[in-house]
Amino acid sequence: RILIEQTDPELFAAIQAENARQERHIELIASENYASPAVMAAQGTQLTNKYAEGYPGKRYYGGCEFVDVAEQLAIDRIKQLFGADAANVQPHCGASANEAVFLAFLKPGDTIMGMSLAEGGHLTHGMALNMSGKWFNVVSYGLNAQEELDYDAMERKAHETKPKLIIAGASAYSLRIDFARFAKVAKDVGAIFMVDMAHYAGLIAAGVYPNPVPHADVVTSTTHKSLRGPRGGFILMKAEHEKAINSAIFPGLQGGPLMHVIAAKAVAFKEALSPEFKVYQQQVAKNAQIVAETLTQRGLRIVSGRTESHVMLVDLRAKGITGKEAEAVLGEAHMTINKNAIPNDPEKPMVTSGVRIGTPAMTTRGFKDEEARLTANLVADVLDNPRDPANIAAVREKVNALTARFPVYR
Ligand code: PLP
Repeated sequence: RILIEQTDPELFAAIQAENARQERHIELIASENYASPAVMAAQGTQLTNKYAEGYPGKRYYGGCEFVDVAEQLAIDRIKQLFGADAANVQPHCGASANEAVFLAFLKPGDTIMGMSLAEGGHLTHGMALNMSGKWFNVVSYGLNAQEELDYDAMERKAHETKPKLIIAGASAYSLRIDFARFAKVAKDVGAIFMVDMAHYAGLIAAGVYPNPVPHADVVTSTTHKSLRGPRGGFILMKAEHEKAINSAIFPGLQGGPLMHVIAAKAVAFKEALSPEFKVYQQQVAKNAQIVAETLTQRGLRIVSGRTESHVMLVDLRAKGITGKEAEAVLGEAHMTINKNAIPNDPEKPMVTSGVRIGTPAMTTRGFKDEEARLTANLVADVLDNPRDPANIAAVREKVNALTARFPVYR
C-alpha cells in the first residue's frame, strides 16, 4: 500500500477514500461482504504473474507446479465444504460460471427456465438483454399471490415447454428454495437441473440454508457474497458432468485462470470450513430476522412477509418514497443500500418501489442482535423523514458512532 502511495499517489488517494467509505458506512448491499486480510493478501502475490491454461497436472504452460498446489487446495476444500463430487474453481465471476453451464449443455435456440428478474431472479437466468435471454428461448417462473416461489406454476410450465435446463436460485428472494421439488420436476421433463446458489453459498456452507448439491446436476456460485471470498465464481457438479463443465470453462469460455484469485479462493474456503464461520453465518441469519422484524414494527412491508436467509426486499410504498430516492438518502446517512424492484412494481426498473437489504457485511464487522436492531431503526428513521436534512445529519452521526465502534480492518 505504501508502495502505491509512492508510485501512484492519484490512485492511492482513491483507494484510501474507498477504504474510509467501507469503514464508515454500514454496508447493507446483500451481495457484498468484507474479505479477510488473508484473502486480500493472497490476491496481491506473485501468482498474478502466472499463465496456467488447463487444469492441475494438465497445463499448456511450464512452471505450473506451485500454482497447481494452490488450485488443487481450492478444489479439494470447496468439494469438502459442500459435499460435491467435482469442482471447477476457475470461473472469473458468477456470470461466467453460468455461461459455462449453458455452453456445456445447450445450443442457441434451446429452451431454458429460470426465475424472472422482476420477481427475484438474476439477469443471467434469461433476462432479455443478457446472453441467456438473447440466445435461448426463455420460460420464466415467479411468485404466487403470497409472494412465495410458485412451484405449481413452475411445474406446469416445465411440463408444457420441456426446457432443456431448469435454473433455481435468486438474487432477491428471502425464503428457502425447495431444491428437491425442482429436481423432481427436472427429472420428470428430462431437463438438466442447475442451481445458482451465489447469494446463499455462505449460509449453505454453514448449514443454515438447504444444500442444493445432493439435488442438482450442477451448482454455480460466486465466491464474494455471503461466502466472503475474493470476487470470483466456481462450479460444483456430479462426476458425470466434470468433463463437459471443465472444457466449457477452458477452452470454451475463458483463457488463463486468475491464479492469484484462485489462491485467495483457497484461503476463503479454508476459512469457511472453520467452526467460527458457522457461528458467523448463524448470526447473519439472526441479524436478517431482527432487521426484518424491526422494519415491520416500524411500518415497512417485507416482501414474502419474512426472511429465511441473509436477504430481504423492503416495500417502501407506505413511506411514500421510491427505491431510487431511498438509496440516495440512506447513502447520505452513511448506509449503503441498493434499490430493487418489488413484485408487480409500479415504478420503472431504475426507480423501483423497494430496497434490498442484506446482513453478511454488517455481521462480518461484528454486529450482533443489538446492532442489527439499531441499524434497522436507523434505516426507518431516515425513511420516516427522508427530506429533512437535519434528520439525515442526525442519523449519520449515529451511524458514524456505531461504525467507529466496529472497525472492519483493524
Ligand atoms: N448469480 C446470482 C444469483 C447473482 O446474484 C449474481 C450477482 O449478483 C451473479 C450470478 C453474477 O455474479 P457476478 O457479478 O460475479 O458475475
